[in-house]
Amino acid sequence: MNFKKYLPPILMLVIFETVAVTLWLTKNNLFYLFNFSYIGISISLGVFLFIKKVKFARRLVQLLVGLYMLIYLGLICGENMQIEGFWYYLFTGVFEAATIHYAVAKIFGPLIFGRGWCGYACWTAMVLDFLPYKVPSQPRKKLGWIRYITFALSIIFVSALFLARVGNIERIMFWAFVTGNILYYAVGIVLAFFFKDNRAFCKYVCPVTVFMKPMSYFALFRVKCRKDRCVDCGKCKRVCPMDVDVTDNSRKRKNGTECILCMECVKNCPKKAL
Ligand code: SF4
Ligand code: SF4
Ligand code: SF4
Repeated sequence: MNFKKYLPPILMLVIFETVAVTLWLTKNNLFYLFNFSYIGISISLGVFLFIKKVKFARRLVQLLVGLYMLIYLGLICGENMQIEGFWYYLFTGVFEAATIHYAVAKIFGPLIFGRGWCGYACWTAMVLDFLPYKVPSQPRKKLGWIRYITFALSIIFVSALFLARVGNIERIMFWAFVTGNILYYAVGIVLAFFFKDNRAFCKYVCPVTVFMKPMSYFALFRVKCRKDRCVDCGKCKRVCPMDVDVTDNSRKRKNGTECILCMECVKNCPKKAL
């Protein structure tokens, strides 16, 4: 048995278990052990199944993690895990679920696993990836500036609640989570059909990318191209949902900070160069 092959899922599990145990012990809360262990096991299972060439490995992880976060953490536990929830907990100085989630998955985590969150865990993309336009049929539009507006609006919304001293913000945050998600799904689905691109929402609108893009520039895990094997057939670029020029190994590769580690390029390269 080639153990080296299985190093990525083992490493992933070790990283998540380290976070789980550290938070459990430092915050004296068993929830963190359960939460990060569940997510770590789900992701490791997905990576393991991918290595075993199981076709729907990534989709399985998306459903396992996405549904858990949306239904259990969001709707049942009432945690607003969207960006406004992050601002809310940050402003109140609470380093709890949403702030920890952002720190691990979207701010510091991308230094290690890039935008793996977007490929394997996001509950918005979990639904969008079921739509028919898995690979964009048109070149990317210059609309990425919209994400900075939605990012600013999320801060303005939460700041306004604090400045106006609105009561029962906790409850408002829950309903903001519900309506925010409905809005994300609606806009995401409309954009997917309009641009014939499942990931149009991710490319142009999602405010979370404002955190993730600069951090994932330095990501430890990246898809790299073995130039000695590559025959420049262009297949990897044609199957990439995020328009990444994965044959360029430099950090400045075109749309490099958009890579969601979906591994479609790796699966489709005829020369096993990726
Ligand atoms: S860009 Fe936003 S919506 Fe898309 S997968 Fe990432 S976090 Fe989810
Ligand atoms: S699919 Fe493989 S061989 Fe073709 S351009 Fe991409 S890396 Fe090179
Ligand atoms: S196809 Fe390759 S380059 Fe494109 S997003 Fe997926 S892993 Fe990244």
